[in-house]
Amino acid sequence: MIVSIRPKHICIVGTGYVGMASAVGFAELGHRVTGYDIVAERVRGLQRGITPYRETGIEDALRRHLVRDGIRFHVDLEAAVRGADYVVIAVGTPAHADGSADLSAVEDAIASLGPLLAEHAVIVLRSTVPAGTSERLAAGCRNELIYAPEFLREGSALVDFVNPDRIVVGAASTAAAEEYGALLAGLGRPLVITTLRNAELIKAFSNAFLALKISFANEVANFCDVVGADALAVLSGIGHDSRIGRAFLYPGIGFGGPCFEKDLKSLDHVAQQHGTSRELISATLRVNAAQPKRIVDILEHELGGLAGAHVGVWGLAFKAATDDVRDSLALRILNDLCARGAAATAYDPAVRALPPGYRCELAPSALGALENADALLVLTEWPEFGLVSPWAIAAQLRRDVVVDGRNVLDPRAIVAAGLRYRGVGRTASSDHTAVAAAS
Ligand code: NAD
Repeated sequence: MIVSIRPKHICIVGTGYVGMASAVGFAELGHRVTGYDIVAERVRGLQRGITPYRETGIEDALRRHLVRDGIRFHVDLEAAVRGADYVVIAVGTPAHADGSADLSAVEDAIASLGPLLAEHAVIVLRSTVPAGTSERLAAGCRNELIYAPEFLREGSALVDFVNPDRIVVGAASTAAAEEYGALLAGLGRPLVITTLRNAELIKAFSNAFLALKISFANEVANFCDVVGADALAVLSGIGHDSRIGRAFLYPGIGFGGPCFEKDLKSLDHVAQQHGTSRELISATLRVNAAQPKRIVDILEHELGGLAGAHVGVWGLAFKAATDDVRDSLALRILNDLCARGAAATAYDPAVRALPPGYRCELAPSALGALENADALLVLTEWPEFGLVSPWAIAAQLRRDVVVDGRNVLDPRAIVAAGLRYRGVGRTASSDHTAVAAAS
């Protein structure tokens, strides 16, 4: 445990992915943490050390801090915030149908906090919000409000909280930003202090740039497909340039999940409102929207039609190491398969149930999903999929088609087992050494 300043009382409002990483992360730093969520059932689970989702390391650390009374959860907001020095707001900001951010949870949280906060308490907004939101909210608050965006990745949320590339703090006063930064001084990471509005845009455009890299990689892959080149070798060669970097330069089914798409749509909406250019943001979203359909087109082509076909699907979560299926492109692909007349049986190591409305059986194992299937379609990059024997895959499949939407399988081994292989920008003759270097 690293404590660099006098421990503070930090109250977390909203105990989802970001809220729980913050709660456990601040407790790891030696601060006293309380937590509140509007969903009482979630709070009762957390009081017993049970998180409602899978996130590496969080549950173990949570139980450790519960035992030593470093973290407490309350179903009553007043009890949670009583005496708090900082109140961290980490509630959801999903997209409205027109792409604008739905800020109702943030606004409700701030409204209910108003009469409960001690005079010295600082509100720390961590939810992702459009430019200008923090200033508007701060104007209506008696307490100081700062904006400290979160950059964590699901699956490594706690590691990312305690090891951020930078800590961004937007505030009206440098002193308030520095005091908040001091809470995290034990992490020894660079502190970027700026205005509220700049901090909002650092978060929004960081996500936009990462999403742009993914769409760029997908465009490279689709290009490589038609000219007969290996996209992974090409992207690896590009990414070795330190001015470009290899992270997120990887083709697949596109970006899904609860952040990138809605954050880009929110940026797009704000740009539209202000009448400013949004060419790259729109293009990033367009490329991404087309990619899942492209994967199903490849499968349809390989099978010679999807009507009446049975597809074994590996992966439902929007990325590996999480059970989060919010805005997962795998689910959009399931709908497309169904619309084109195919049936699907799916396996995901972490996902135990699908949201209502999806016509898809769930199998208890990877090979179980391939029973009576005509083809295998990989939609999440779980490393364990690459460990399944290609011979076992071949023994299960009725036909010989493997479409690897995440490039996690070894093309040569798949072909050696008598199967046909299609990846994204990658063919069966792809140089596997180059592929390994790129991943
Ligand atoms: P989440 O849906 O997992 O959690 C939000 C929690 O807030 C839920 O438990 C919900 O019950 C609770 N809540 C809603 N209204 C409330 C209220 N009025 N009072 C108390 N609790 C309330 O969301 P998340 O994925 O943790 O994301 C939170 C924010 O952080 C979003 O703005 C998101 O864009 C941003 N963000 C998310 C990630 C990520 O990877 N999930 C990464 C960085 C930033």
